[in-house]
Amino acid sequence: IRQPLVAGNWKMNGNSALVAEFNEKLEALNCDAETVVCPPATLMHLFRANSFSLGAQNVSHLNNGAHTGELSVEMLKDAGCTYSIVGHSERREDQQESSGLVALKAKQCIEAGLTPIICVGESLTVREAGNVEKFVGEQLDALTATLSVDDLSKAVIAYEPIWAIGTGKTATPEQAQEVHEFIRGYFTKVDADLAGKLRILYGGSVKPDNAKTLFSQKDVDGGLIGGASLKAEDFISICQAAN
Ligand code: 13P
Repeated sequence: IRQPLVAGNWKMNGNSALVAEFNEKLEALNCDAETVVCPPATLMHLFRANSFSLGAQNVSHLNNGAHTGELSVEMLKDAGCTYSIVGHSERREDQQESSGLVALKAKQCIEAGLTPIICVGESLTVREAGNVEKFVGEQLDALTATLSVDDLSKAVIAYEPIWAIGTGKTATPEQAQEVHEFIRGYFTKVDADLAGKLRILYGGSVKPDNAKTLFSQKDVDGGLIGGASLKAEDFISICQAAN
């Protein structure tokens, strides 16, 4: 019932040459999963491939106007985006984005018809203290405080444990499944139908050789891929692992 989704997050990487390579190599991408590439905004206009969707890495919670340096949902849609990542842990940390702000960004996306990929996930300190569910639960509380069941039905959640991002330390399939099950259980209490349909992606050192076991976990509906999404061949094989 849930179509898998694989999204590549290029972060602050890539250039026009890499886009040209992706345009060529991903042209024939054919897999059962829905696929999205989230490049830096400066590269969006260069993408030609129509085998995947385009997403942003961040979006403003405000409408067009006097907000220097920000990009609005309208601008992202105009640039061809249908998705936007919101609340990535790197932005929560580097730009001090709060869970409340992340919820407003998600709401802004949903109202404009963009699908938000909302990131949650704990640090190693939180995990070692045994507080994963409390911490992630509070991040989810901020979402349900702002977003209705109907809103949430138009969103995607990405569980990205901070200690697994860019470290090569992937969560084991069991560790990922445990938190994904917790997240789905959380939404079951909000609305059972919503929880059954909600796509929950795993992110954190997903590579071609570990993607299949991660994606085959019951509550893992695909992935949010950082480093490995910068190599066309790796990204393709991860997308194909999500069938
Ligand atoms: P890595 O795949 O490089 O660990 O990054 C994961 C991530 O943060 C995707 O948003």
